[in-house]
Amino acid sequence: MKFFNLIYFIFLSALVAFTVYLYFNIEDLEIKVKENIKSVILKNTSYFSDNVLSILPKNCIKENDLHRILQENASLRKELEEKMQMLVTPSFKYVYMLYKDNNGNYRYLLDGSKSDKGFFDSKFNVNTKEWDKVYTTKQTNIVFQDNLDGLWITLLQPYITNGEVQGIVAMDFATSILKDFSRVVAPLKSVFFYVFIAIIFLFSVITYQIILQLRTKKEAITDPLTQAYNRVYLRNFLEKINFNHYDLAMFDLDYFKKVNDNYGHKAGDMVLQSFATIVQNNIRNKDVFVRFGGEEFMLFIYKGKKYTHQSEAVVERIRKAVEESQLFYDGIMIKVTVSIGLVTDIHKYKNIQEAIKQADENLYEAKHKGRNLVVSCQSQKKQEQNNSLRIGEVKFALDEGCVFCHFQPIVDLKNNTIVKYEALVRLRDTEGRVVYPNAFLEVIERTNIYRDLTKNVLEIVFAMIARQKVNISMNLNLSDIIDNAIYTMLLKELQSHKDLSKYLTIELLEYEAVVDEILIKRLHDIKSYGVTIALDDFGTGYSNFSIFENFPIDIIKIDGSLIKEIDSSKTSLVVVQSIMSLADGLGMEVIAEFVHNEAVLMKLKELKIKFGQGFHLGKPQEKIG
Ligand code: GH3
Ligand code: MG
Ligand code: MG
Repeated sequence: MKFFNLIYFIFLSALVAFTVYLYFNIEDLEIKVKENIKSVILKNTSYFSDNVLSILPKNCIKENDLHRILQENASLRKELEEKMQMLVTPSFKYVYMLYKDNNGNYRYLLDGSKSDKGFFDSKFNVNTKEWDKVYTTKQTNIVFQDNLDGLWITLLQPYITNGEVQGIVAMDFATSILKDFSRVVAPLKSVFFYVFIAIIFLFSVITYQIILQLRTKKEAITDPLTQAYNRVYLRNFLEKINFNHYDLAMFDLDYFKKVNDNYGHKAGDMVLQSFATIVQNNIRNKDVFVRFGGEEFMLFIYKGKKYTHQSEAVVERIRKAVEESQLFYDGIMIKVTVSIGLVTDIHKYKNIQEAIKQADENLYEAKHKGRNLVVSCQSQKKQEQNNSLRIGEVKFALDEGCVFCHFQPIVDLKNNTIVKYEALVRLRDTEGRVVYPNAFLEVIERTNIYRDLTKNVLEIVFAMIARQKVNISMNLNLSDIIDNAIYTMLLKELQSHKDLSKYLTIELLEYEAVVDEILIKRLHDIKSYGVTIALDDFGTGYSNFSIFENFPIDIIKIDGSLIKEIDSSKTSLVVVQSIMSLADGLGMEVIAEFVHNEAVLMKLKELKIKFGQGFHLGKPQEKIG
């Protein structure tokens, strides 16, 4: 399309240039034709004047000899004038001869004109300058007069004998031929002029069309609110670029929902626009800024073949600019911040999707670490990922039945007896080594494999309960409960093994942000079968206390990060105590995770925490009993 437009443009420009050339050339042509006509006329005129000269007496020796001869011989004068008269035509109106007297006046020698005839020796007022020129140069002089009536040419030719100028023969030639020619050419000129105007018009229309077309094209690839590129552009861009020349950043505005909730959707839109402007002001032309979804943006930072880390500075600058910006809506100042996930080594990834996924994970980490942060791929997480299995390897393990669980005891601290086991998923790789979840869960997140794995764990747990009649606690994300396939399977198992549900505890993970009606109903339904429900990793991140209102919770598992230092950290101690009193008030049990030494155990006993779990109490093991 672009090529087509270009050709069009070149063609039209050439056409305009050609018409302009023709128009001005006609003018040029006219001048040339006129010149030619003039030279033809001149040639003829000089033939006539040569004839005149040839009839004059040749026996003049001194200056003014001709004047003397003619003065003395009136009949010769008459004869010569009659001969001259024969040359007179409507075009050659006047043929005459003058001489310069001693006072510098010009006087008649001969006059062949039919009308206004001058008499011998009578004075004739002429353009002395032009006539004198002939006397001094002894050369023919031509005087042009181009006036309204037509062209006048006066040919002044000296009559020279013995090197002396005896007089000057003058011939006046008048013609309207040049005017006639202009009249002939005039319509042609106006035709060219109209063609020129028509082409200019055509040119404008087509140029307008092209601009319109380009604008429509731009609209199709631009997000109307923020003027960033949209996903249509992204798709094309990803097909065409060399990823190695770019770094990739994912942006997500922090707590943006609150902006909408507090100030209205329009204020939200304004914030999105301002954010986009801030980014555009901080990037270069070659960088590509895309609105990925609602308040999620993507930036491809061009670095060419350099492997520098300028991108970190770029995104940090953007983060800071957003943090420092003061946005006003309706006179109210709105402050926003942005979290950023950066990937500076796209070339290390199998494909761009993997790199995007990593940027997204870095962004998630930035959110998790408190927002208004940049997390780049050099982070801890990335290094861990290097030991990770690939998605295909996890699938292989699943297909080959290499998924199993380790069971870690949960102990009643009062009498040191095991009350239940937490099932912890493991894979066995092709060489028989045990692979831990941190090496495979992330890779399969939000994929079918993840769902299959969860279902597999459910089967293992139910089989274990059926076989050994022990209490087992298993981990589920809230997204697992929302997932229809997993939920349906869980419910089916609960229905068909009614007596087993009382052995089962579900530990809920990643529950912080979600309050969803379907989810709440499903949790209550699960609970109604007699399943125990626990909140896992409680006390880290942002704990949303409304979950106690909505979720049917029996147990709080206090996060290991609080427990492991409880013997030395005052803060941990106070937080744990407050969680205990919360649990107490709500009638819930408490389990302490990460009991890794005797000191911690003693402290927990002192605090009268009922249950504990950790290496010091029992390591995860493949078999129970
Ligand atoms: P977090 O810090 O975790 O990112 O919190 P958040 O509130 O920003 O994230 P969440 O994803 O919960 O909310 C994003 C909100 O963005 C929800 C949606 O209503 C809003 N949103 C998406 N697109 C637009 C838009 O075009 N205009 C406005 N005003 N709001 C939008
Ligand atoms: Mg957000
Ligand atoms: Mg757990």
